[in-house]
Amino acid sequence: MSKSKLAIHGGAPVRAHYLPYGKQVIDEMDIQSVVEVLQSDFITSGPAIEQFEADIARFTGAKYAVAFSSGTAALHGACHAAGIGEGDEVITTPMTFAASANCVLYQGGKPVFVDIDPLTYNLDPKLVKENITEKTKAIIPVHFTGQPAQLDEIITIARENNLVVIEDAAHALGAKYKNKRIGSISDMTMFSFHPVKHITTGEGGMITTNKEELYKKLLQFRTHGITREQKLLRENHGPWYYEMQFLGFNYRITDIQASLGISQLKKIGSFIEKRKQLAELYTKELGSIEEIILPHQLSDVDSSWHLYILKLQLSQLTAGRKEIFQALQKENIGVNVHYIPVYFHPYYESLGFQKGICPIAESCYKEFITLPLYAGMDHRDVMDVVEAVKKVITYYSNK
Ligand SMILES: *Cc1c(COP(=O)(O)O)cnc(C)c1O
Repeated sequence: MSKSKLAIHGGAPVRAHYLPYGKQVIDEMDIQSVVEVLQSDFITSGPAIEQFEADIARFTGAKYAVAFSSGTAALHGACHAAGIGEGDEVITTPMTFAASANCVLYQGGKPVFVDIDPLTYNLDPKLVKENITEKTKAIIPVHFTGQPAQLDEIITIARENNLVVIEDAAHALGAKYKNKRIGSISDMTMFSFHPVKHITTGEGGMITTNKEELYKKLLQFRTHGITREQKLLRENHGPWYYEMQFLGFNYRITDIQASLGISQLKKIGSFIEKRKQLAELYTKELGSIEEIILPHQLSDVDSSWHLYILKLQLSQLTAGRKEIFQALQKENIGVNVHYIPVYFHPYYESLGFQKGICPIAESCYKEFITLPLYAGMDHRDVMDVVEAVKKVITYYSNK
């Protein structure tokens, strides 16, 4: 390929219009199902929520599902249900969105960041084991980019140490671990329905679980800590009576959102298939570029392809990630970076976390670039991204 003039240097951009890294796909059927709820008797706490929960439970193979107002609220609920409290340690990865660790802080617990596997970028089970103390209460693996973490190893460690496993599956709706859908495997699994995720409700989240006890705690936590269940009441003054038994939150999703979720979930199969095809096209088209490393997939998992991340081989490039990122943006390619290691954030620094604790995640952070990937993209969009990547990498290659 010739060294055509980069857009950042005044050349013509590869694309005339900006391609975002992710966005929702909403069709007429989605719109209709929201309109139907708006015209019905319930716009919140009605039948659409239970339907959405039942649909997610069926899809994931879990016994129970509890919808929340966001994935973050769902993680908070899971930490409460897991009994995480003051001083408890919870192991998670720094290569994630802050919410995966913030939920531990909400409960007064302490996130313990453990480094990632350099191939899959998921939590390294060996390091999880080494970081367990008598204060450890739970593990929160994140299925980074949609590729499931090594759950068998993590669940075995959890069993041996009496820990709760809460999967952050915000990237992994529809992903499979050893032919089993994510959501039915460990104690609790969180899904997010933010617009960049596989299906959307605007804002929204879900916890799936197979344990009735956790299910009941999650329901109560979502509604102020209130219950109306006869068996659980300490007193009963009459048919109006309910009790607030612990300090919960209003973390309910609305029926308006749930109806969108129900409609979106009907298309999950085609959404995932599309993401998979686009990812395969990236892999085929970018495979020959020596200056970048493509996502490595383990053979016993089936990714749901939330993100497609390139790892730059900085030793073969004359520029850093920042220049390459900016150059791709100028070509109208909406690249992104996932993620700033959680403990780099000033708030975490103020809690005493220091740089250097997870060297692999930190070096990945310097090298990662996320390419656009969502079900609404087509072959042509991928080829534009490929062209831009080739153009920019060729320019900055030191060969
Ligand atoms: C999106 C996301 C969340 C939070 O979900 P929200 O629905 O936006 O609150 C948590 N963890 C990860 C890894 C995410 O990508």
